Amino acid sequence: MRTPAERSAIWWVRRDFRVHDNPVITRAQKNHLTVVPVVIADDTSWFTGNDPRSRIFQESLARFIEEVRKYGGSVLVRAGEPIQELADILASTQSSVVYSLRPDDDKSKNLFRRAKSKFQLLPIKDESRRYSKCPDSLPTGNFRSFFNAWQSIPLGKSNPVATKSIVFRSLQPDKKSIAIANKRDSLSILKRDFFATRGLLTNYSLEKDRVDITTTSRLSPFISNGVLSQSDLFKAAKASVEKNPTMSESAKEYQRQIAWRDYFSAILYKTPEMELRTLDASLLSIPWENHEDDYSRWVNGETGYPIVDSAMRQLSTEGWIHNRLRMIVASFLVKHLLVDWRLGMLHFQSTLVDHDTAANSGNWQWIAGTAYFSAPYFRIFNPVIQGVKCDPHGSYVRRWVPELVNIPDKYIHSPWSYHKKTAMYPPPIIDHITARERTLKIFKTAKTLTAN
Ligand SMILES: Cc1cc2nc3c(=O)[nH]c(=O)nc-3n(C[C@H](O)[C@H](O)[C@H](O)COP(=O)(O)OP(=O)(O)OC[C@H]3O[C@@H](n4cnc5c(N)ncnc54)[C@H](O)[C@@H]3O)c2cc1C
Repeated sequence: MRTPAERSAIWWVRRDFRVHDNPVITRAQKNHLTVVPVVIADDTSWFTGNDPRSRIFQESLARFIEEVRKYGGSVLVRAGEPIQELADILASTQSSVVYSLRPDDDKSKNLFRRAKSKFQLLPIKDESRRYSKCPDSLPTGNFRSFFNAWQSIPLGKSNPVATKSIVFRSLQPDKKSIAIANKRDSLSILKRDFFATRGLLTNYSLEKDRVDITTTSRLSPFISNGVLSQSDLFKAAKASVEKNPTMSESAKEYQRQIAWRDYFSAILYKTPEMELRTLDASLLSIPWENHEDDYSRWVNGETGYPIVDSAMRQLSTEGWIHNRLRMIVASFLVKHLLVDWRLGMLHFQSTLVDHDTAANSGNWQWIAGTAYFSAPYFRIFNPVIQGVKCDPHGSYVRRWVPELVNIPDKYIHSPWSYHKKTAMYPPPIIDHITARERTLKIFKTAKTLTAN
């Protein structure tokens, strides 16, 4: 005979807003008759805010509430300090244990440590991702070897959910869940636009680096917070190829992009220092300039380089920018302005709607050249050439930098060379060649000093 506590467990939903293919619920169900799904926001503004991050949170939560409801359950939604809230919920539901996805970032690991000193908390490995099935044996030296090994890992069965009636303990739905449910549905539109028979996936392998037109899925916020699982993405891509076989090259390329996410997660798992520490010891002595004025001109999109400024303005408005733009602005901050990559990484962390610790710090170190897996340090993006490649007619720049709306295509990425000056737009913060030579010298010196 089970005690009430054994019958009931708490599922603390953090970055896994889904019932299907979720290793946490699969594990919790093995040991308990009923499970109470709990979502805790650290501030009530998440439920009401109209900023990009709150909107994604509300849509993800609404979807989750709906999915739980299909299994006959309801979600407890709270705002407040998580440990205090969980302790209250454990007592009021007479549950004995909390299950939650294993944390990967420093802040969550600390929170888990504190929580474990108060009650029983079981961190669950994310078995829904390929990398997580054998994280210790995957080679993480460079992406190519990782990708080859990653591809050969069988996907296996999705994490099953048991019979409907026993999955969730149904509580009185609280007011917040009712208010949040069914508010928005941008996810269905994004999925349809990307995976439809003649959707964006069709030309993904050829066009994915263009930023003036929509070429990628923009599903990253829903992947980061777990509304979509990895197998949801594989299945959707497979279904597209079945309907339209000409998409197969693009579907392969799409899988490769997903593998990048796993690559950085695997590195963070093996090397947690990646989150905050320069991994290449020979570059620990880089004399970063970290000028406040340079940093704030970068943040505000006022560097005088149109592709950098439009990207930074889109980032602060929408909380999302294209991968190519992330690479360009990251390279610019580190290699042109000599600002420590961690300052840029932290700015992305507080702004991105798809923030993911592994993808963010991994990509920053990759671009900055500060880790063993990075692009070579001497790879420095030229913001003018990059702009011409990814926004050939300048329509992306004109959308975000209205000061340049009347500049002809030929000069849109280098407006300083146009004979009519635009008074409203600043001159370049630094000359590209000068910046490049300065950085090469500094990185080379740091490497040579360590070698001797
Ligand atoms: C400096 C920098 C910081 C970044 N920070 C984040 C972050 O915090 N969170 C995040 O999800 N991605 C991050 N990325 C990776 C990438 O830019 C985004 O995943 C991508 O732009 C999301 O758009 P999408 O969904 O349209 O991508 P698609 O082209 O549709 O790609 C499909 C999926 O593959 C994954 N993916 C693609 N490229 C990468 C990559 N380089 N690294 C890791 N995963 C990738 C994402 O989950 C993405 O949704 C960062 C890249 C850089 C250069």
